[in-house]
Amino acid sequence: MATENYNPFENAQAQFDKVADVLQLDSSLKALLREPMKEIHFTIPVKMDDGTTRIFKAFRIKHNDARGPAKGGIRFHPHETADTVRALSMWMTWKCAVIDIPLGGGKGGVICDPHNLSVTEQERLCRGYIRQLYTQLGPNLDVPAPDVMTNGQHMLWMLDEYETIAGGRYPGMITGKPVGMGGSLGRTEATGFGVMYVLKDFLREKNIPVESTTASIQGFGNVAEYAARKYTQLGGRIIAVSCWNQTDAKSYTFKKESGCDIEQLVKIKDSFGSIDKEKAVAMGYELLPGDEWIKQDVDILIPAALENQITPKVFPYISSKVKIICEAANGPTTPDCDALIKERGITLLPDFLCNAGGVTCSYFEQVQCNMNYFWDKSEVLEKLEYAMTKAFRDVYRLSVEKNLYMRDAAYIIAVNRVANAVKLRGWI
Ligand code: NAD
Repeated sequence: MATENYNPFENAQAQFDKVADVLQLDSSLKALLREPMKEIHFTIPVKMDDGTTRIFKAFRIKHNDARGPAKGGIRFHPHETADTVRALSMWMTWKCAVIDIPLGGGKGGVICDPHNLSVTEQERLCRGYIRQLYTQLGPNLDVPAPDVMTNGQHMLWMLDEYETIAGGRYPGMITGKPVGMGGSLGRTEATGFGVMYVLKDFLREKNIPVESTTASIQGFGNVAEYAARKYTQLGGRIIAVSCWNQTDAKSYTFKKESGCDIEQLVKIKDSFGSIDKEKAVAMGYELLPGDEWIKQDVDILIPAALENQITPKVFPYISSKVKIICEAANGPTTPDCDALIKERGITLLPDFLCNAGGVTCSYFEQVQCNMNYFWDKSEVLEKLEYAMTKAFRDVYRLSVEKNLYMRDAAYIIAVNRVANAVKLRGWI
């Protein structure tokens, strides 16, 4: 899913190389950590409803499991590439490390467009994914979760296939399951809420009341919806939301200067996070081209859709009013844009810190599955807020003490933790 000419894996490696030099990692450690430890590329034959068989290309990539079993989502996307999965698996390693949970980094993907697959075809695709990968997955080995265009139902089909082959119940084998079927309360909200716990704490540090701020969001899927909900609950005003329209094969920005009504927009979006444009216009929203979200006169930009969205090419369009970029998506900013962001004095709250709420709650889900005892939602969210705030404070403190860009501070903490685990295990 690389956009323009950006390759997400090269971006992830460039970010890592910079930190490896700062940390003066020795060459073997650097060589180990800049590549995935294991890659599986495979095909999945799926019987389609019309009787034909289609072959889907799929991936599962483990970047590093020195700190614990690999953890990472499975993405369904027509533009999925091995390099996207490599990058995402690497970011998962840093994410689990910065939030300090005992898990490593992995990621999976299937090149497909679920918009064009029936429910039964999606089920067969999910089951096929597990059949091909069975020996490589498990609660102590590699634990998948949902990502872009996959959801709790997909996870449950995958779990059911795994348990059918294994001949037992292994609910900790996958996370993001529906509540009541091994899922954790709060998992749906976790990533978006986690983004906002970080933003809220940063604003508190700077004595900026949330109520005085405005934001523009790219995306209206799982992460964006719950980030938007929490931000407006805290008193912030969202001026614009951008999302993809499958029928028109382009994105649109929905704008309301007085503030978007998030609950109202949720009611008119589909399961892929696309807002119905006719209904939105009837509700008084201004309909603008998709990239307008980035040009809004707001205090905070929240990219919550895809990677490579904030590039040097679009950077000049960012309003001088913008003071914070809060990265909810994975890899939304290209490395060559970091210097421009720093130069303008915009604070960047980095992706693998901001969006760590999802994997943290997935970890809670595994813990609850292992205990076979489930916490209530307030307990989950309280633990989540504690973990997010603690990680943010560690990163923020280091960035202030050493005068570092916050992405670099987060990387230094994460890479150090993983490097120590590798050394303690005696791998290097
Ligand atoms: P999703 O599939 O639920 O939603 C994606 C959203 O992006 C949709 O609203 C879609 O319309 C929008 N979109 C797609 N292309 C767009 C474009 N060109 N312009 C504007 N909008 C566009 O996905 P999600 O789970 O919300 O994930 C969003 C991002 O957050 C991804 O980068 C994902 O890797 C990351 N992330 C997700 C989780 C999680 O728990 N879901 C956790 C950590 C990180």
